[in-house]
Amino acid sequence: MPSFDYLADRLAELSSQHRRRSLVPRRPEGVEFVDASSRRLINFGSNDYLGLATSRPPIESLPSETGSTASALVCGWTPLHQQLADTIAKFESTESAVLFPSGYAACSGTVATLAEAGDVILSDALNHASLIDGCRLSRAECVVYPHLDHEFVANVLKQRRHEFTRVWIVTDGVFSMDGDVAPLAALSDIAEQFDASVIVDEAHGTGVLGETGSGLCEALGVKDRVAIRIGTLSKAIGCQGGFVAGPAVVTDYLVNRCRSLIFSTALAPTTVAAAITAFELLESEPERRQRVQSLAKHVRDQLSLSTTCAIENSVPIVPLIIGEDANAMTATESLMESGFFVPAIRPPTVPSGTARLRLSLSASHTDVMVESLLNAIKRCGINVG
Ligand code: PMP
Repeated sequence: MPSFDYLADRLAELSSQHRRRSLVPRRPEGVEFVDASSRRLINFGSNDYLGLATSRPPIESLPSETGSTASALVCGWTPLHQQLADTIAKFESTESAVLFPSGYAACSGTVATLAEAGDVILSDALNHASLIDGCRLSRAECVVYPHLDHEFVANVLKQRRHEFTRVWIVTDGVFSMDGDVAPLAALSDIAEQFDASVIVDEAHGTGVLGETGSGLCEALGVKDRVAIRIGTLSKAIGCQGGFVAGPAVVTDYLVNRCRSLIFSTALAPTTVAAAITAFELLESEPERRQRVQSLAKHVRDQLSLSTTCAIENSVPIVPLIIGEDANAMTATESLMESGFFVPAIRPPTVPSGTARLRLSLSASHTDVMVESLLNAIKRCGINVG
């Protein structure tokens, strides 16, 4: 057997930097879970923003097949897959939508497929890893712009637009570790001025933001200006999988060319059925969306983290920036001792010196849970901001 000692050395180094991770089994029980040492913790770390991960579809709507058996292009695409894709296209007000095995596959595959040699991708510095990997896989030149800096984007294009065949402006809608939002109106203006296309990853906006819950593009009134929107079924939708919504010619092209769609097994029919139910609930129970938004506003207000942007204040991701990794670990441990799970997020997921607790809210959290957490944050002396 070859020796993997060098990997053991690297892991030891991560431990000494307080950056070693491991998989910890946790038994979910609604909005709580029981950890390996039988501690019951209220979960403020999940992305189940609407509490839909525990909503089961009616048993009669569940297909008997647990597996889709093949890629969507071979024989894994069932009438349920088509129904979900049509539901998403309607929800997103786009001509078409197509499903992916995960949001990661949707983001990485779409960017890698659409942006070609001779093109340029302008990518926000804090974009999710799935978009970054899409940029790396594509043959286009990639220019990373400072976080949210649309003027930087405009300047690059003023100077260099003539060098490129096509221009792709690629951004998260809601940023997953900061809970802030992309300036989509300004980016859409720039895209129109320089004949570029905007691709938005709506992973944390879908189900949460906008009048009907379709995401940040809707909340900012730019749904018809952002041609390609990527989403996940794994967060507010409470299931698993990803999607791309946009013009039919784009989804059709992805079906023909996108490797993460073509060379991976289609979503399990049971998951698809659960996602269809979740989209029905988004429409019939808007109070879930209103509830999580008002919890987000309340928590930011109580922790003096409100900003001047009303939409941002209703995002259910509240980062409590601590700084040093070791201090973030101490903070997460103290909250666990008080019965709350608020995960510490460390580099390389976030920049060095900005380790943080990532507090995420769900419509399933009760007022008492949220007040107790706020008290525990104060009691533990966690210094935020
Ligand atoms: N984009 C963003 C912004 C995300 O936070 C995530 C999940 N962490 C993804 C994409 C990937 O989605 P999925 O978990 O469905 O692969």
